[in-house]
Amino acid sequence: MNDLNQARNHVLKLIQQACVVSKRNEDEVQLLAVSKTHPSELLKEIYATGQRAFGENYLQEALDKITALSDLDIEWHFIGHVQRNKTKHLAEKFAWVHGVDRFIIAERLSNQREDNQVPLNICLQVNIDAQESKDGCNPAEVAELVKCISQLPRLKLRGLMVIPAPNHPHAFMDAKHLFDEVKVLHAHPEDWDTLSMGMSGDLQAAIAAGSTMVRIGTALFGSRDYSK
Ligand SMILES: *Cc1c(COP(=O)(O)O)cnc(C)c1O
Repeated sequence: MNDLNQARNHVLKLIQQACVVSKRNEDEVQLLAVSKTHPSELLKEIYATGQRAFGENYLQEALDKITALSDLDIEWHFIGHVQRNKTKHLAEKFAWVHGVDRFIIAERLSNQREDNQVPLNICLQVNIDAQESKDGCNPAEVAELVKCISQLPRLKLRGLMVIPAPNHPHAFMDAKHLFDEVKVLHAHPEDWDTLSMGMSGDLQAAIAAGSTMVRIGTALFGSRDYSK
């Protein structure tokens, strides 16, 4: 408990310092705890220190944790690649989906979100630095996707998500420019408030460029063991 508390306070301090350096308000940047590969007990411990937003990448693992921790007031974010045949679980169980990169995926999520639920928050994932093996739409497609997706009834299109390659800090500024540029095309521009970028190794550069949500795993929980 103490270790996690310390790690979280350290990350919150890094965020705060990055905001001071960039002359931004610290409440403009939210911490998303990326808990993939870590057991529910660990999530419970960090929840006890005040953390509410958690990010998961693997659907089955996430669904197991959502069930195990259903008595906690957790805001679940899906940050992995969205497969077309998995959208129903995402639409029903999560508060946010960050990895939307095609209209068909957004349309399915909107159709599958239950009428009695609040709209599903989504971010459009952009392959901002043209990496060959990466998910995300092409920057040139963003304008049209924002126009179309922002009109879907059961979704709230909140912004962009990017995962630039390491040593590519300029990509964060490119993402911020794109984010600002397309806002006018949104059917509900007041919903357009989230730039999901920055991880353990590059949160300062991301915040300097305008990130509003950093997705932090390693700096909170330590390194991940994928062998289990
Ligand atoms: C795993 C992951 C993170 C967290 O990365 P760390 O370097 O451990 O902070 C953030 N975003 C996405 C999309 C991830 O898959």
